[in-house]
Amino acid sequence: MRDMVSLSDQTLRALGIPAPAPLSEATIALWRASPTAKYHWADKRASCRHLPGDPWANRRAQPPVTDRVPALGFEVPESALCSRCADQIAICPQADAFLAVAAELARADAWVNAGRKAAASADWSWLQFARWRSRQPLQGRPLDRRHRHRPWPPLARCG
Ligand SMILES: [Zn+2]
Repeated sequence: MRDMVSLSDQTLRALGIPAPAPLSEATIALWRASPTAKYHWADKRASCRHLPGDPWANRRAQPPVTDRVPALGFEVPESALCSRCADQIAICPQADAFLAVAAELARADAWVNAGRKAAASADWSWLQFARWRSRQPLQGRPLDRRHRHRPWPPLARCG
């Protein structure tokens, strides 16, 4: 979910990787019991016990939907979301993999720009440099091999 929040259509275009059409049109279905209640992820895959319907059913029925929010730049604050649902929100495996890679590239872009700015001003202490160096993206956390080389599915198959 954090990758969806940090990436907007403009961010992706600035990185030179415009979002595929199904992703820029994708929405996240949400449900809340009243205007003051927290939002829940209204999806068959959600296992939240606060959603109407049986979370333990073998195939859960589609929960009711009160709101649809664009997935890119997901504008619902974390404080307005059920914490259990916030950890589960997803689009489909291929779109989630794309967002994970794009978010890592966005972090790498910000990291390189911070380093360039510091090199130009040449006023960092060794501690600032060490902190910047330790935040280097694109290392560790190997991306899930299961999602590589899979064709992009039509949106109907996403969620
Ligand atoms: Zn929930």
